[in-house]
Amino acid sequence: MTKKNLEIHSENILPIIKKWLYSDRDIFVRELISNACDALYKVKLLRDQKLAEAKDEEFRVEVRLDKEAKTLTFSDTGIGMDSEEVVKYIAQIAFSGAEDFVSKYQSEQEGDQFIGHFGLGFYSSYMVADKVVIDTLSYKSDAKPVLWSCDGSSEYLLEEGKKQTRGTEITLHIGKDNEEFLEEARLKEILSQYCAFLPYPIFLGETLINSKEPLWIKSPSECEEKDYLEFYRHLYPMEEEPLFWMHLNVDYPFNLKGVLYFPKVRRDFDLNKSAVQLYCNRVFVSDNCKDVIPNYLTILRGIIDSPDIPLNVSRSYLQMDRTVRQLASHISKKVSDSLNTLYNSDREKYLKCWEDVSMIVKLGILEDDKFYERVKGLLIWKTTEGNWITVEEYLEGDKKKVFYTKDEHHHPHVLEMYRNKGTQVLIANSPLDNYVIQFLERKLTDVSFQRIDGGIDEELIDKSREKTVLDGDGKTEASKLAEFIRTKLEIEQCDVEAKSLTSDGLPGFITIDEQQRRMRDYMISLDPKDAKKTLSHMNKHTFVVNTNNPLMSALLKMDKKNPDLTKEMVKQVYELSLLSQREIEPEQLNAFITRTNTVLEQLALQATQHEG
Ligand code: ADP
Repeated sequence: MTKKNLEIHSENILPIIKKWLYSDRDIFVRELISNACDALYKVKLLRDQKLAEAKDEEFRVEVRLDKEAKTLTFSDTGIGMDSEEVVKYIAQIAFSGAEDFVSKYQSEQEGDQFIGHFGLGFYSSYMVADKVVIDTLSYKSDAKPVLWSCDGSSEYLLEEGKKQTRGTEITLHIGKDNEEFLEEARLKEILSQYCAFLPYPIFLGETLINSKEPLWIKSPSECEEKDYLEFYRHLYPMEEEPLFWMHLNVDYPFNLKGVLYFPKVRRDFDLNKSAVQLYCNRVFVSDNCKDVIPNYLTILRGIIDSPDIPLNVSRSYLQMDRTVRQLASHISKKVSDSLNTLYNSDREKYLKCWEDVSMIVKLGILEDDKFYERVKGLLIWKTTEGNWITVEEYLEGDKKKVFYTKDEHHHPHVLEMYRNKGTQVLIANSPLDNYVIQFLERKLTDVSFQRIDGGIDEELIDKSREKTVLDGDGKTEASKLAEFIRTKLEIEQCDVEAKSLTSDGLPGFITIDEQQRRMRDYMISLDPKDAKKTLSHMNKHTFVVNTNNPLMSALLKMDKKNPDLTKEMVKQVYELSLLSQREIEPEQLNAFITRTNTVLEQLALQATQHEG
């Protein structure tokens, strides 16, 4: 038996390992099993070169629990180590690897998390163990078994072991604070997470952990629709079926494999967390790919596997990494390709999926110009007539203005006027649409978007009946009506204009300057509670009254007889417009109801007086 010192370059790193990696303790399982798989891979290579003997069924990793002894054992039938190798690989190389890792980890600012921690290796076992024993027998024909043990101090023991069969057995004496890892259910959960798709059978006791084949490493031509669906169900057992998917398979200039699914968008969807799982050579690394795939694709699900993503670097570094950027842009390209294919080959399905994929398309457009160029032909809008068109199609015939509305029930009367003119109106009802519209205005020079209450457009005016003749006072009939309504209303924030509208039945409607309204919507989206109060200066609007409306003419006449009631009725008509355009404030609503009752009462009284 030899007793030796670990070659320690800094003070004992084991306490540091324990401290720094506290939150991710379960990764020791991944590290030890990855090592075991590497050892199996090596022996398989040797076998294929006829340098070692081994049968296929021998390649396996076993994890055993002994609750009484408080030990956890990882045993493999891999290449094994002789005593020189143990000294070299475990006491020197593995140790310096861990040391490197810790110094890197320590120099990073707090909170700047590492992406995957690969590189810590064997020594991660000290995150949970007070003592680790390695019992190993090399594949070499004259090898003697080796027993190595170390209790986390700087000393280790090395002696001849008793192992009879090729491979390595690593036994962890689990520390007091880590007894959760002696629970079978907990261990099974960790193994299923990290090792579900590893290439050699992994057993926990008698249970095989990795029974499912990793679909993504297959060639796309070997996979059928049912395989993709089944795999999705395996990954997300409780979820609705995905809409469609893409298979990534790149060898050059980087290595990337994976299957990405477009899911139905859930309400509780969290933009800050990607549901795409990151793998490195079939080993699970992270279930948050946020730093690898573009933000607008966080809705996607599935798996990407790439050995080219540097894992033992911090997240902020990762975003600057060239390969990662190339990888992200490849994924983005694939996404736009598959959307284009769907749009061109199966329009009906595309429309069905639109509600779910529109978020990706719109966020992508806002975030990534290249993506915009590739999907601009797929950005479709529903018209109030129920058709789907792109803005390009809308503008055909050299149009420069795009009319839109919040939804088909907003402003029914105004909408009716556009409809009668045959002008299409787009429905922009997603919270992202304001941004997308702004973006399109910047991209498409000369083109502007206007909500149907954003101004009095030519479309709404009946020129043939405009009251433009001047009377003795030098005023038109229209300007007199406007003046009359203005004095009756007496609302500072509200300007009044009188126009010859195409629809006689409509007494008037409210317009709010497009830019002001966008600003207001934006502020409200930032702070829905308080914005309304602070935005009172943004309440400027115009009450457009209709010179062709009989009620308006009647009010003018009525004013001579009953100015008070006329005033109430003008306010009433104004507030009805606010109400129909959903611009009325809750406080205004109360006053409106009270006034409605008073006006009706007075009208009823007058009607009965006439009778009497
Ligand atoms: P890494 O795996 O990154 O090289 P580790 O600290 O995990 O670093 O391991 C150091 C070395 O110890 C490995 O490269 C390997 O040569 C050897 N080793 C570790 N585990 C095993 C094992 N189960 N069987 C054979 N060799 C092993």
